[in-house]
Amino acid sequence: MKSKIRCLLKSPPGCIPEKIYIAKLIFYEYLGIDVDFQSSEEKKSFELNILFDDKTYSLEFLDSFFKKASSAWLEPATLPDSCTWIKTNEIQGEEIWIPIFHTTDDAAFWKSKEHLTSSDIDIFGLSFFFLSRYEEAVRTSSRDEFGRFCFEKSLSKRTGTANKPVVNMYIDFLAKLIEQITHYPLEKYRKLAFEVIPSHDVDSPFSPSIRTPYWLLRTLGKNLIRDRSTEKFYATARTAYKSSFNQKNDPYNSFSKIVKIDANAGVKGRYFFISGRTGKKVNDGYYHIEEERIKRLLQELHFEGQEIGLHPSFNTYLNPSAIDSEFSRLKRLCENLSIRQDYWGGRQHILRWQCPDTWRHWATARLDYDSTLGFADRPGFRCGICYPYRVYDLIERRELTLIEQPLILMECSLIDSRYMNLGCSDAAFEEVQNLRNECKKFRGQFTVLWHNHRYVSEEEVNLYKFALSGK
Ligand SMILES: [Zn+2]
Repeated sequence: MKSKIRCLLKSPPGCIPEKIYIAKLIFYEYLGIDVDFQSSEEKKSFELNILFDDKTYSLEFLDSFFKKASSAWLEPATLPDSCTWIKTNEIQGEEIWIPIFHTTDDAAFWKSKEHLTSSDIDIFGLSFFFLSRYEEAVRTSSRDEFGRFCFEKSLSKRTGTANKPVVNMYIDFLAKLIEQITHYPLEKYRKLAFEVIPSHDVDSPFSPSIRTPYWLLRTLGKNLIRDRSTEKFYATARTAYKSSFNQKNDPYNSFSKIVKIDANAGVKGRYFFISGRTGKKVNDGYYHIEEERIKRLLQELHFEGQEIGLHPSFNTYLNPSAIDSEFSRLKRLCENLSIRQDYWGGRQHILRWQCPDTWRHWATARLDYDSTLGFADRPGFRCGICYPYRVYDLIERRELTLIEQPLILMECSLIDSRYMNLGCSDAAFEEVQNLRNECKKFRGQFTVLWHNHRYVSEEEVNLYKFALSGK
């Protein structure tokens, strides 16, 4: 169905495939407006023509990022490294604070600005910059021992913007501007609805310490000799004893509990399984996907209406054939178990991901969506957005078929001492509430990762319930 409102975006030269990609995403996918694109040598900035009701309205937008990138693609000089928050002119009765990302050299110029008009904002360039993870493809040395891009070295950290979906802010600003000019409500955009999407990476479906007599003896020995803890020794023995009579007593086997909690909050979970082995001396999932108890678990989850997905093993993120074969194995198994889904996605184990290679490998394997992109070392908006989007390959310079569903909150980033170390304190609840509220404000998706083995402590379960329901 054609929209009643149409746009023509006239652009300066340079980065044409990228500009067409971002224009299509913002106007067509999110705002529900058909958009045509034109580039011209004479243009110095973007000119947006809004055609509505036999009238044409024009707006101007800054072209800063693409201008630099067109002559120095993926060069460090193209990276913004500072941010200034500035109020906009009044739109629909309100002044909006917008973050402008720029190079440090430009800081004085931006600080001198009191109010922003649309022509000051590089909506298209900065949105592309965040969504494509351009920064990660340039700062290749800012990765941790697992090859993951670190929050600590990111623009989000330097500018204090990790807890703000900045691309959503730009899109919302643009939507309000168009509505103010045309007096036409952007129906598709207004109909977006807030949603919580819980997902569960299945690393340890059953307690690894008690899964075989060998592992049980090893754990008991470790409790006594290394930990010098009779308390841990008896706890392991108790769990093993109880679980040997009934697997439901295994605290890691929390699946029916999760399904119930999710159902009470009116949501359905996504369960991502590891179906291969590529890690050496690392946790690569304490199970084999074809074990009888895993097959039963897959069927039970499917029967309960939950979604099954892929959790590619430790060394797959730069290995397209491993991703492809693990996905094929999972799909084949599901097919044999009469588990049929139209839509397949998942998340890389340990959040190992590299821009843009891992996205390309997922697209090549014909997975529909990925949900890896949150920082491991802190929750927030790594991609600057809480909407799903079709991804862009910065090396091949083309749009891929894969959808990214950014990860906003992983429990261990918030709770564990190796990351934010907030435990289940009031500060942790506050952080969850803030992230949830930001997603709600833009009617976006609050994507939450809670591992099945983290439903042991009552406090952590309460924090999870709070993430789902906000109470
Ligand atoms: Zn994992």
